[in-house]
Amino acid sequence: MTKRIAVFPGSFDPFTKGHEDIVKRSLPLFDELIIAIGVNSNKSYMYDTESRLAHINSMFEGEVKIRVEAYTGLTTSFCIKNEARYLLRGLRNTTDFDFEKAIAEMNARVSESLDYKIETVFLITDPHYAAISSSIVRELKKNGGEIGQFVTNEALLIINA
Ligand code: ADP
Repeated sequence: MTKRIAVFPGSFDPFTKGHEDIVKRSLPLFDELIIAIGVNSNKSYMYDTESRLAHINSMFEGEVKIRVEAYTGLTTSFCIKNEARYLLRGLRNTTDFDFEKAIAEMNARVSESLDYKIETVFLITDPHYAAISSSIVRELKKNGGEIGQFVTNEALLIINA
């Protein structure tokens, strides 16, 4: 049987407990999951690529199904390069839904035009994590707030270093 390979793309600036929950719950669905850190030269990040790679890797060290990679360019191209047929995304609320729906439709069209079918798989956020967003964590951090309840201890050690 062909391997079910999924890509979980995002900025992950930083990777939160909400992201972690989506990853853990998706693992039974796939044989391999690539956490793909988007690197867009037009965007400025609080945590650079190295820091994001390091803190996400530290969280999933023992998990054989997971690989963490940084990528530039189209998510579809990254999927094709890695033979992934699934995109994984999390849905927190209706704002996420509207945004994600448009992206999923675009990705489906782009991939079909390349004769490569990609299915986007959505997981609804656990209500416990629904209020967490990387942008709020960054805002807190900038203003000297405590971010420990939103990111894991492993990640915290690296992003606070
Ligand atoms: P992007 O910049 O691509 O939106 P993010 O890092 O903000 O990247 O998010 C990546 C994915 O994780 C998106 O599908 C987003 O909806 C989802 N996500 C973000 N925060 C949470 C959370 N607290 N719980 C579940 N999913 C989340």
